[in-house]
Amino acid sequence: MSTQKIALITGGSRGIGAATARLFAKQGYAVAINYKSNSEAANKLAETITADGGRCITIQADVASEGDVIRMFSTVDKALGTLSVLVNNAGILKKQSRLEDMTADRINAILTNNVTSYFLCCREAVKRMSTRHGGLGGVIVNVSSGAARSGSPNEYIDYAASKGAIDTLTKGLSLEVAAEGIRVNCVRPGLIYTDMHADGGEPERVERLKNMIPLQRGGQPEEVAEAIYWSASDKSSFSTGNFLDITGGL
Ligand code: NAP
Repeated sequence: MSTQKIALITGGSRGIGAATARLFAKQGYAVAINYKSNSEAANKLAETITADGGRCITIQADVASEGDVIRMFSTVDKALGTLSVLVNNAGILKKQSRLEDMTADRINAILTNNVTSYFLCCREAVKRMSTRHGGLGGVIVNVSSGAARSGSPNEYIDYAASKGAIDTLTKGLSLEVAAEGIRVNCVRPGLIYTDMHADGGEPERVERLKNMIPLQRGGQPEEVAEAIYWSASDKSSFSTGNFLDITGGL
């Protein structure tokens, strides 16, 4: 039986998820790269990882859909084997807006994409990892945001609140499954150079705000990936319910 560890990274086609997939592959993990619609980016990343000698698959799945999540986990089971690490990373933003202009459709889209999705993926991971279900244990890393602390006034309180929910999910689940061989940690990035800010209506947002950051610069996806990797690896073996802020001091 192969001893290679297996990591599933949601939203792995670009940004922080892609940097995380590259790092896990470099560290010897077999990697499942999930994406929603950008098959070109996901396939290009998979080609690079494979060319470097890594083992990986790509899986199209909308993590906000229960059926897609169930299919995604069973694809990992069949194609790679027993899951060791889940990185819950896929997330969305909507255009910058004050709360009084937010519709129920927008708020629900944010909550379904950013919160329900993490719950569903945690559920499927726990079913596979928990010693209670005959599993071998494992690690879940939830990617939250510094926005959970700042609240993102005048920009996206809905997004910030969704990340607050992820912090609470991390705390509760880490305690629920601690005696079952599963660690659950959380990484909270600050302002990171990715395409997500364009979805919020301001592609240059990190440039505009970087001087507010104590370290005087925005962060790179690779710097967040290192924290995710540490939180999932045996190097953090005594950490669970742990929060790592990768925010340049903000
Ligand atoms: P990004 O560049 O916009 O990439 C988002 C990724 O998530 C893409 O791979 C996208 O797939 C995928 N995705 C979105 N909705 C999905 C869904 N329903 N099902 C499956 N995949 C989905 O984002 P990022 O900046 O790397 O952010 C990654 C995580 O870090 C998010 O949770 C975000 O909230 C958090 N974060 C980011 C920042 C920042 O400054 N960038 C700061 C704090 C926290 P497609 O490519 O197929 O659309």
